[in-house]
Amino acid sequence: MSIIYTPQKYKLADKPMENFIDPEEINEILATHQQPSMQQVNEVIAKSMQKQRLSLQDTAILLNANEPEMVDTIKSAARQLKEQVYGKRIVLFAPLYVGNLCINDCTYCGFRSTNKKQERITLGKQDIIDQVKALEDTGHKRLILVYGEHPRYDAQFIAETVKMVYGVKHKNGEIRRVNINAAPLDIEGYKIVKEAGIGTYQIFQETYHKPTYEKVHLKGTKKHFEWRLAGLDRAQEAGIDDVGIGALFGLYDWRFEAMGLVRHVNHFEAVYNVGPHTISFPRIQSASGFEVDKRYEVSDTDFTKLVAVLRLAVPYTGLILTAREPGYIRDEILQYGVSQIDGGTNIEMKGYTSHKEQQDLDHEQFEICDDRSLNEVMEELVEDGYIPSFCTACYRLNRTGEHFMEFSVPGFIKRFCQPNAILTLAEYLEDYAPPATKEKGYKLIEDSLKDYEDERFKTKLVERLGRIQAGERDLYF
Ligand code: SAM
Ligand code: SF4
Repeated sequence: MSIIYTPQKYKLADKPMENFIDPEEINEILATHQQPSMQQVNEVIAKSMQKQRLSLQDTAILLNANEPEMVDTIKSAARQLKEQVYGKRIVLFAPLYVGNLCINDCTYCGFRSTNKKQERITLGKQDIIDQVKALEDTGHKRLILVYGEHPRYDAQFIAETVKMVYGVKHKNGEIRRVNINAAPLDIEGYKIVKEAGIGTYQIFQETYHKPTYEKVHLKGTKKHFEWRLAGLDRAQEAGIDDVGIGALFGLYDWRFEAMGLVRHVNHFEAVYNVGPHTISFPRIQSASGFEVDKRYEVSDTDFTKLVAVLRLAVPYTGLILTAREPGYIRDEILQYGVSQIDGGTNIEMKGYTSHKEQQDLDHEQFEICDDRSLNEVMEELVEDGYIPSFCTACYRLNRTGEHFMEFSVPGFIKRFCQPNAILTLAEYLEDYAPPATKEKGYKLIEDSLKDYEDERFKTKLVERLGRIQAGERDLYF
């Protein structure tokens, strides 16, 4: 059955496109599960620990659990689940802003078309080469390309820029996976970008509360709530099964948005039999000409709980945390289930080569709170016992629906993900790390090898580590 979409007309063949977000349903579930008992909280957690995805009712119980003892129980369960499902790996990436032209008017974004202070820049081929070289020189292997919404940034343009990025090889550096955060496309458009070899296509719904959505999206295609909500369904129809959803926390009630995210996951699982690959939950930041509305501000206390609840609600969906958050928040919630973070982030247009000390909001989308270099982030992860990973193996070996592979094949993480994390860490230590990080990194690798009881496998891994030290690159299981 083909899908016919235009921003004004959302149809699945001749049936109207379902808006699967029902605000009344969400509000009612939240209202009927207020002030849950400790027993209810424990029952829900027991389900999560069996690695079952939670229902909206279960999620509401955890979101409404406010007693300190309940919150501690939720956080410690999330920590345990994360350890069981993901092990100690944290995947690292960097954002690269390709263009900030935009036809939309999202009140919260520095790129909004009505913001005349923003300097409009679109990277040309040489700019892309320069930015990517600079990123490769710090050790990055995975990027997310970010675009405003503009006719110039059509599918063809996105595909061309993706190919340019893959083409930049500098010293031992190369980008092995390019993800996208751009406007929703039509089915034909998704087919074009898929051809270019993209990893995940991310679209954040921003808010699942339609009245709020309409208040903050004033102009352009993005005004259409359903066009955006169905954006990743069209990606699926075009054969892109690796998609990322998200909500911008701070526009509306955070509990409602968390329920919206879980409902979105349910939708994918019900219709496509596979959930989204990742969830992002950025908290809104100041931007050029925009101050955050305190009414829906998510406090640190609520935010850390929110992440723990999401981990328990969707055990198999990757959680992404970005440099919008300060280091101390990142450190805390890494424990509860975040599986990917960015490092050495610079969101200024051409920012990776300009080396400015301070952010200039008129040249970027919003304010970031964590401006540590990639190496500083790596070193801290290593000190805390995490294995930073630049692994891209599944995607490159066409182990599609990689989240499915990871979690459905017994021992997959131990035999593939963890060793690949170790191998990519070794590459980083050889090529980019200063001596102190190198020493700490190899100590972590040595300790991690002790976890391997299977001597034959361990020998293989050690042999590959030796080949990396001898100069070979890009080895994986
Ligand atoms: N222009 C495309 C779009 O809107 O979908 C591409 C992505 S936009 C450049 C990336 C994301 O940045 C948005 O989806 C939004 O969630 C987030 N964003 C925008 N303004 C923000 C702000 N003030 N603080 C934090 N995140 C923000
Ligand atoms: Fe444009 Fe995206 Fe910013 Fe909205 S969030 S103004 S669509 S860049």
